[in-house]
Amino acid sequence: MDIKALKALLAERGEPAYRLAQAKRAFFVELGADWDSVTTYGKPLREACREAIPWNTLKEVKTIVSPQGDTVKTLFECADGQKIEAVLMRHDDGRNTVCASSQVGCAMACAFCATGTMGLKRNLSIPEIVEQVIHFSRFLKPTKEYVTNLVMMGMGEPFHNYDNVIAALKQLNDKDGLNLGARHMSISTCGIVPGILKLADEPLQVNLAISIHAGTDEVRDKFMPVNKAYPLAKLMDAVHVYMKKTNRKVMFEYLLLKGINDHKSDANALARLLAHDHRLSHVNVIKYHPTEAFDPTAREERIAFVEWLEERGISATHRVTFGEDIDAACGQLAVQEENGLVKQGLDAVRAKRVRSNV
Ligand code: SF4
Repeated sequence: MDIKALKALLAERGEPAYRLAQAKRAFFVELGADWDSVTTYGKPLREACREAIPWNTLKEVKTIVSPQGDTVKTLFECADGQKIEAVLMRHDDGRNTVCASSQVGCAMACAFCATGTMGLKRNLSIPEIVEQVIHFSRFLKPTKEYVTNLVMMGMGEPFHNYDNVIAALKQLNDKDGLNLGARHMSISTCGIVPGILKLADEPLQVNLAISIHAGTDEVRDKFMPVNKAYPLAKLMDAVHVYMKKTNRKVMFEYLLLKGINDHKSDANALARLLAHDHRLSHVNVIKYHPTEAFDPTAREERIAFVEWLEERGISATHRVTFGEDIDAACGQLAVQEENGLVKQGLDAVRAKRVRSNV
């Protein structure tokens, strides 16, 4: 729902201020299905709203779930026919994390990423970002669970759609709405320096994650074109400024690509890079979903990589990604949209608590 448009419509009709809060309650808290769920509105107002403002801007095209039930992935169609996707990851400690998209496609062309092959189509609007979370909130409603965390780590580079992403997170953080804590929301960037510096001054205290994936420019240049514009020295300068201003921890994502960035020398280079800011740094070592372009590093070597970092005083964990069996990596479903993925038994999945992701 376009909250800004609703606010304007209510003002135009001379409605009292509480009307906005009533609609927000029906949409974000009661998770209603359409305008009929705003029972506090009289029929004429409801009809005027229905006419002017779509309750949902996204349409669910298909939803697939992993056999373990820990991952639910939805492909959405936007009003203009563009396709985007979002993923719900269900942790056995009770957290329900949504990984949401910020753009249709992406201009950054990281060589390991399916979305990168699409190029950038357009930025997502505020309602299109918000509704990815609302969709999974509705999904969890029958079991009285809710979305606890959000990572802007789906399709797109969030800092290339900075204003809409921040506005969407503010809407989700709104106490009259979903009330999702700012500290439970993260923005993940491939390393857009101006975005990092802007976030450092943002009053909304969301977390920052950086897809680092290499400890030297030589290695990073091989698969992340962004490194030409913002090489590691510039990136780490911005990270340093961010840490100094916010005193908040930064998560560094590190996908291990077999034979590319998984040697001991790569761990040493990363440790050197983070040494200065190690107090506020944490490295997430991630298993790669195999593609035609790269192979994943074996489990023992991933664990060794974490140990090498820890030996050098860098805090690190090994994360097994969710939903490998349903192509849950960024952009895979939108790219493979026509490959006949099947909607499965969602009720069974809702009821299922699953293993930890670590
Ligand atoms: S990894 Fe992120 S920034 Fe890179 S191409 Fe994919 S969506 Fe874009």
